[in-house]
Amino acid sequence: MLQLSYCGYCGGELVHPADGPDICADCGRPTYADPKVAAACIITIDGGLLLVKRAIEPQIGKWSFPSGYVNRGEEVEAAALREVVEETHLEARINWLIGVYSRSGHPVVLTVYDATAIGGEMTAGEETSDIGLFPIDDLPELAFEHDHGVLRDWRAERRRRGLVTL
Ligand SMILES: [Zn+2]
Repeated sequence: MLQLSYCGYCGGELVHPADGPDICADCGRPTYADPKVAAACIITIDGGLLLVKRAIEPQIGKWSFPSGYVNRGEEVEAAALREVVEETHLEARINWLIGVYSRSGHPVVLTVYDATAIGGEMTAGEETSDIGLFPIDDLPELAFEHDHGVLRDWRAERRRRGLVTL
């Protein structure tokens, strides 16, 4: 993983103890390299899974769920819905939390919600080069490692809730 080199308070050099946060050699303050929280929404419209084609790195050109990073101080659910608006111009509401996905050694913690589109007009946003509705059994190449696990969990929960399985 990437390491910070300098103290955010005084600009001093950070030392990296094996156990615990980085410590500034000058002012002694700790610097915590916190995880990044991201949020995504699974939305279906007319039986198709809403995916966006990424116009930015990472995984430019591949498809994924509308998603993005949660801002500091922002409610996670609000961030998930904000990303849907930014990437698809659709307004949505959250139904339930599908899961929280993380991997040892990786800085991103992904939260994924089932959501329903309630308004707006589906068009690609700035960080999106294309947008589409795909049959669940005929998806394009997905961008992220977690994506297939997310879909598995989502389909299992839909079955559990007695919802139509796509
Ligand atoms: Zn310092």
